Amino acid sequence: MPMVPMKQVLDEAEKGGYGVGAFNVNNMEQIQAIMRAAREANSPVIVQASRGALRYSNLIYLKKLMEAAVEENPDLKIVLHLDHGNDLEVVQQAIDLGFTSVMLDGSLEADGKTPRSFESNVDITRRAVELAHPYGVTVEGELGTLGGVEEHVAASVAILTEPEEAVQFIEQTGVDALAVAIGTSHGAYKFKDVPKLAIDRVETIHRLAPHARLVMHGSSSVPQDLVEAVNRYGGAMPNARGVPVEAIQDAITKGIRKINVDTDTRIAATATIRRIYHEDPSVFDPREYLGPAREAIYKVVKARIEAFGSAGHNDDYGPKTLDDMKREYAR
Ligand SMILES: [Zn+2]
Repeated sequence: MPMVPMKQVLDEAEKGGYGVGAFNVNNMEQIQAIMRAAREANSPVIVQASRGALRYSNLIYLKKLMEAAVEENPDLKIVLHLDHGNDLEVVQQAIDLGFTSVMLDGSLEADGKTPRSFESNVDITRRAVELAHPYGVTVEGELGTLGGVEEHVAASVAILTEPEEAVQFIEQTGVDALAVAIGTSHGAYKFKDVPKLAIDRVETIHRLAPHARLVMHGSSSVPQDLVEAVNRYGGAMPNARGVPVEAIQDAITKGIRKINVDTDTRIAATATIRRIYHEDPSVFDPREYLGPAREAIYKVVKARIEAFGSAGHNDDYGPKTLDDMKREYAR
């Protein structure tokens, strides 16, 4: 089975009332860990690569690793998604590489910091839709800005998504999915103390724009046992804090269908590698720490897939192809 369009996976999640995890990848161990978790949970899965990941892996390696994932798991619904594309060139590059979904994040200017005007965001996002849909490729946009720091994505201020604007944005751009800003932020330091999320906005947007699939970025939970392990074995992540899994589950009941998770798998890998270095300073074979790091990533991904409710849903439907989607978009 080739990779499936994200629109289908999210539309099925809408029918089933569950969320689908979107996990970031840069290398082989991460891809293997995610695929093992999805396979064991019999869950559809979204694998996503940022611009930084494309650069890090020199494009062709990531493409070939994803092809290996598909070949190894012919019965799984796998989406390959571009995370935070910021111009039409990178969108085209992802489509050429075989991605079945792209994000055009028009919420920020090209500097990756300054919030862009609503009109300018509509304009660039609509052009991305016009570029991607003729290929059958799904498009995710973003309205409002998240605080925090992700690779090259660091808004100077956080602006929550206004429901009425979201409806206009969806109508004017034709996006399939929309990342909404409800108080989450990228990275490992999301909240000073108790997390506060505007989950009621999800419910309102979902009611007003029932055909767009809603996406939650900055949704790592930053498990405290992993943060403690990082700190115990020589790391320095004081006061790292994320979004509780229960808050994400609440957001899923209100209409969130795609949940981005990156920081959690990073922390899991780092905690494991630090522990191994600490416990056995004689280790110098990378397999002796990358293998256990892969295992740790797998555990986090599996737990998230189960918590988001997508486990067991892989076989609910047959796969659509990009050609199927081309015809749907043309109508
Ligand atoms: Zn993001």
